Amino acid sequence: MSILMPDPDQAVLARRAGIAEALRGIVPGEGVIDDPDALRPYESDGLTAYRQPPMLVVLPETVEQVSAVLRWCHAEGVKVVPRGSGTSLSGGALPLADAVLLGMGKFKRVLAIDYDDRVAVVQPGVTNLAITQTVEERGFYYAPDPSSQIACSIGGNVAENAGGVHCLKYGLTTNNVLGVELVLMDGEIVRLGGRHLDPCGLDLLGVIVGSEGLLGVVTEVTVRILPKPESARAVLVGFPDPESAGACVAQVIAEGIIPAGMEMMDRTAIHAAEAFVNVGYPLDVGALLIVEVDGPAAECDYLIEEIARIAGANGAVTSRTSTDERERMAFWAGRKAAFPAVGRISPDYYCMDGTIPRRRLPEVLRRMEQLSVDYGLGVANVFHAGDGNLHPLILYDANKPGELERAEAFGNDILRLCVEVGGVLTGEHGVGIEKRDLMPVMFSETDLQQQQRVKCAFDPKLLLNPGKVFPTLHRCAELGRMHVHAGQVPFPELPRF
Ligand SMILES: Cc1cc2nc3c(=O)[nH]c(=O)nc-3n(C[C@H](O)[C@H](O)[C@H](O)COP(=O)(O)OP(=O)(O)OC[C@H]3O[C@@H](n4cnc5c(N)ncnc54)[C@H](O)[C@@H]3O)c2cc1C
Repeated sequence: MSILMPDPDQAVLARRAGIAEALRGIVPGEGVIDDPDALRPYESDGLTAYRQPPMLVVLPETVEQVSAVLRWCHAEGVKVVPRGSGTSLSGGALPLADAVLLGMGKFKRVLAIDYDDRVAVVQPGVTNLAITQTVEERGFYYAPDPSSQIACSIGGNVAENAGGVHCLKYGLTTNNVLGVELVLMDGEIVRLGGRHLDPCGLDLLGVIVGSEGLLGVVTEVTVRILPKPESARAVLVGFPDPESAGACVAQVIAEGIIPAGMEMMDRTAIHAAEAFVNVGYPLDVGALLIVEVDGPAAECDYLIEEIARIAGANGAVTSRTSTDERERMAFWAGRKAAFPAVGRISPDYYCMDGTIPRRRLPEVLRRMEQLSVDYGLGVANVFHAGDGNLHPLILYDANKPGELERAEAFGNDILRLCVEVGGVLTGEHGVGIEKRDLMPVMFSETDLQQQQRVKCAFDPKLLLNPGKVFPTLHRCAELGRMHVHAGQVPFPELPRF
């Protein structure tokens, strides 16, 4: 593991059996797992390059149990890592050797649906797709649609502020969550927001969405549900190279058109997806845009004409518009299967996630190609082009010595490039452990300390998901007061990784 995590607390590890027994008193039956073989499935999340079995797994079923587990761990100084479905690509749910992994998978109930207010209230373990499946018979859906929607939980979506193809028009998780119930590390149960719009006071709900399991454990989520658009059509546009496709994306948005989704795939990704799902993607192009528009049929027709005009002006060489629902779904099938498809052409890949201003797309794609040559590693690009949210998949072979480290260095350079051109380190996958050590590329020490003060306000003992997001752990009491004199770092016993 080339990313350092805090050293396990040996005193806590020595108490492992007693901790398991105490937690069994709170979550009886099969709710506490301590058998080493049974812990294995939890040793990793979607960032599979990193693995660490947890000390114990606890699977509560009620809010009261979550509260009691956290209260006990808080009193006893035991760390806790929350986990939803474990699909995080940034290592957000990676266990710690001396921490309890708190799995929220048993919170699977839809609690209420209110079609008049257009909200659904669900438990955090409900999958993203299950929300849409629950309301679709009445013509509604939940808009944010991560590619992992069949598996990822809404609690994990809240923690990561997840996005997806349709977030370009309908907003990310943060724009579609109206309220949460949250258990703080000391066991206190709080409610933020609700079924109404614009709660008064500080926007604490906005702080919680995207807080990566560092501030509290989400036990209930109220989401906005939307009526399905009247119609939707998609157009596949091929370009000679990613630069011209990138220029087209920038111009579509600059002209005031907000498609329901606008995704890009480069040649490597197109070929991998076509070989996997056979949906008729053109194979003689350097880049493919999938642009979807939705709304009344006349509006869709007009927008498709406009997009065709802009694509032509940017050198498009092929164009195909869906004529029915089956064809539209086929266009998306390749995109949705792109990640597993790339998994068939490379033993391993490392999925990056950074965001840039759209108008810099052509330049960034060009520089990424050069980095690929410099590092001697292939890259496949599949991404949310309309949002400027890049997902380069760096191809490597973990069995070849040094390739993982080279892939990580390549990925870090891509993220530095994103920041250099005015973008940010993450689009939707979160910071986790993956981008933790790059945070100073984007934030000054003062910025980071201000963010850590927020963490301290929720979790002063720093027990909830430590080692993630922040590159340096400051004890809450020392925040803002660290002066390094003559190279002598104060508090040398504190983990700084
Ligand atoms: C093939 C694939 C495709 C993907 N595509 C997308 C995509 O298009 N868009 C996108 O945004 N992401 C995508 N992801 C990443 C991932 O699915 C999302 O980040 C998702 O939101 C994680 O949800 P989860 O339930 O799996 O959370 P986990 O992986 O279990 O946890 C993620 C983080 O949330 C915290 N957490 C989980 N549950 C709670 C809770 N109840 N309370 C507090 N904190 C909690 C954890 O501590 C951790 O920090 C993809 C992943 C894969 C494997």
